[in-house]
Order: sequence, then C-alpha cells, then structure tokens
Amino acid sequence: MRPIIPDYLAEVLRDVESDTSGEPAGYIPELAAADPDRLGAAFAMLDGEVYGAGDIDTEFTIQSISKPFVHALALADHGFAPVLAKVGVEPSGEAFNEISLETGTGRPRNPMINAGAITVHSLAGAEDLTPEQRVERVRQGLSAFAGRRLTMDDAVCASEMEHAHRNLAIAHMLRSHDVLTKDPEAVVEGYTRQCSVLVTTRDLAIMAATLANRGTNPLSGEQVVPEPVVRQVLSVMFSCGMYDAAGDWATQVGIPAKSGVAGGLIGALPGQIGIATFSPRLDRHGNSVRGVSLFERFSSDMGLHVMETPAAARAVVRSHHVVGSGPDAPRVLQLQGGIGFAGAERVVQEAMTIPPSDTRVALDLTLVHSIDDVARRVLLEVARRLTLSGHDVYLVDPESAMADPDPGDGGRVTVVNTMDQVVNPTRDDLTRTGLRAAGRPGPRS
Ligand code: GLN
Repeated sequence: MRPIIPDYLAEVLRDVESDTSGEPAGYIPELAAADPDRLGAAFAMLDGEVYGAGDIDTEFTIQSISKPFVHALALADHGFAPVLAKVGVEPSGEAFNEISLETGTGRPRNPMINAGAITVHSLAGAEDLTPEQRVERVRQGLSAFAGRRLTMDDAVCASEMEHAHRNLAIAHMLRSHDVLTKDPEAVVEGYTRQCSVLVTTRDLAIMAATLANRGTNPLSGEQVVPEPVVRQVLSVMFSCGMYDAAGDWATQVGIPAKSGVAGGLIGALPGQIGIATFSPRLDRHGNSVRGVSLFERFSSDMGLHVMETPAAARAVVRSHHVVGSGPDAPRVLQLQGGIGFAGAERVVQEAMTIPPSDTRVALDLTLVHSIDDVARRVLLEVARRLTLSGHDVYLVDPESAMADPDPGDGGRVTVVNTMDQVVNPTRDDLTRTGLRAAGRPGPRS
C-alpha cells in the first residue's frame, strides 16, 4: 500500500500553489532575495514519523519561530517567576515589531512580539553568560528541539543587523526601564543571530512535535524542557503567536502556532501532531499567505481545532451489567480508554445507581490505558464510598492502570487480574494469580 498522508499533502499544496499574493519580507534584504515560489509542508507524528510534500529539506532562517522555543529555554533555565517579572503573557493585538511596553512597568506584553522576544533572549542560559555563550545556549537549545545540530546564516544576520534600527530602539527603551539589564546592542545582535538559525520544514515539524509531545523530542527521546514549561509556551502561542491576527487564527485554525518572516509557520497540537509549512510571501501581519491557507485546510480537513474534541467522557463506561444471578452475582462497571476528570465523573454517576443489595462490585479496568491523577483520586473515592455502604469492591486491573490502589480511610479494594477471579473467587485462584489488597504490597503478575 502507498502511504496516504504524503499524497494528501501534495494535493493540498497543489491547491494553494497558484496563490502568489503577498510579498517576502522586504525589511531584511537577504530575505527579500529569497525564492518566493518555494512551498513545503510537513507533519511530524509523536512517534517520530515525518510526512512531507514539496520543499521540506530547503533551509531558511527560523526568524520569529525561534521565539516560543527560546521562551521555553528561558523558563527552563530560570523558572517562571523571574521570566514573568520581565515579560507578560497578554496578547497585545499589535504588530510584531510595535514599540509598545506595558505602562508603569515597561514590561513587554508577551514573548512573541519583538520587545518580549528580545528580553527573553537575554534570559536564556545562566545570568552571567557572555553574549556569545548566550547565543550558543540558544543554538544548542534549538538544536535539541530539532533533534539535529543547527547552524546560523551569517549573511541573513548581517543583513538584518544593518537595518535593525527598530529592534535597537525597542532594546534601548527596554534598557531604560531596566527590563533589559545587559548592553542593548549586544542583546539585539544575539537575538538577531537567534533569528538567523537555519532550519528546514522537516526540522520545524519535529520542533513543533516536541512541543506537542510534552517536551520530549520524538526522534532523540530527549526531554528538552519540562512539561509545565511546554504548557506555558503553548498557551502563549495560542493567544499571541500570530500577532494581530491571533484572534482570527484561534477561531479559524485553533492550533497553537508561530510564524516567521522568512515564510515558516508551525503549529503544535498537544498530544497529536507537529505541523510546519514554508512559503515566503507574507500577508500584512507578516504571516505566510499560503502557510495560513494550508493550516486552514489542515485544521478543517482533519478536525485539528483544539476546541473540537471527541466525546471521550461518555465512552469511558463501556458497559454496566451483572454477571449471573443470585445475591452474590457481581455487578461490573467495565471502563475503557484514557480516564480524566470528565470520564471519572461518568463512573461516579454510574456507581450511584448501584443497588445496596448488590454486595459485590467490580471496576473492570482491563481496557483502560491511562488514568490521570484527578481521575485516580475520584475512582478511589468511588471505591471507598462503595465500601462504606457495605459493598465488596474489586478492581480488575491486569496492567496496573491504577497506580497505588489504596482508597484510604475505611475503603478497601481487592485487586485481581481477571473478571473470572471475581466471578469464581476460589482461594487457590486468588493466591495463584496474585491477589493484591489495597494498601498492602502484593505480587503483580
Ligand atoms: N528577526 C525578525 C525581526 O526581529 C523576526 C520577525 C518575525 O519573524 N516576525 O524583525
């Protein structure tokens, strides 16, 4: 069988190819000289599989797509409070290069606009690094996100530095407010070098997939930044990543994203996919024209909007039935899938319908692959309350989906491997297959 996704990608690229509206970034002469017809798109799945079509191995400069990643490095290197003290997380609704700072504090509104990103650059790596060492920390950090050693385009960097008056003005303003504590010119130079890191569309898809994969690079397996950092960065991308088009993007596409003026665009859909596109002609916001069209297509064709989620909660209770008949017949709640808060709440509702006369109750977790922390606490509380109402509670949990199954305070569960052990609880059977009672360590087979 031929793979399906590259064919789909090629088809979508053909559909947007004829759109030659927009212009490559003019304010960086080297970028203005780039081939405007380049076009590529790549999907990186969380197991490291990459699908692509078009120019996915052409290198171009990362530009503003570096901003969320360097924000992640700064948060990982310093913790949240020192970074938040310097840069906010409020959408500005303004252009990426707007010279605007929060009144009073002088803080940039968010790390996605240049004022914020210039400040964040100065926060990457340890406080006492030299400007060169800081650039190296950034290059190495971006490389870890990409899963390969990235280099810089000195020509693009020099070209931007020659015309960097606006970014220099922003940096001097930041310095006057003591938001920047380092030499503003060295910081702008470092930030501009950060923007000149060379990537391919394939690299960007992997970098986005690393964010989608809770900070673990799907190729190298390296945990590049901690999970709370990823949550923070994706949230900021969602609200601020597309500058003054962020609201349109959030409603139409609904994927945390970031654009760059060289024509790159990434989207990271948590738990699912990293997406990257490349097409240098930009709209008036500085976002790639064909990139935006591609993302609109991807989102609607594949239901990738973050606010569109499957009705998972209802499906958690696969069946609720009684096995056999008579006073000892066990009542079974068969659960399935991944259980979070809403799924656990379904189980509470089901459990409340159990008649007091049915003494034996089994929660069958055989088809459950994950139980998050809140769901675990709710399910154990269900078990505890059932015990207190006089039921004997069993957990059928052959894969130990329930961590530490101790309901505490008067609750008691008997953990078994198969429903059969609940139906025919012979002493032999229980010892042979490893009965574990809550709170007491027992063999797990
Ligand atoms: N280096 C560019 C700048 O500072 C990045 C802007 C962007 O990609 N939006 O102007």
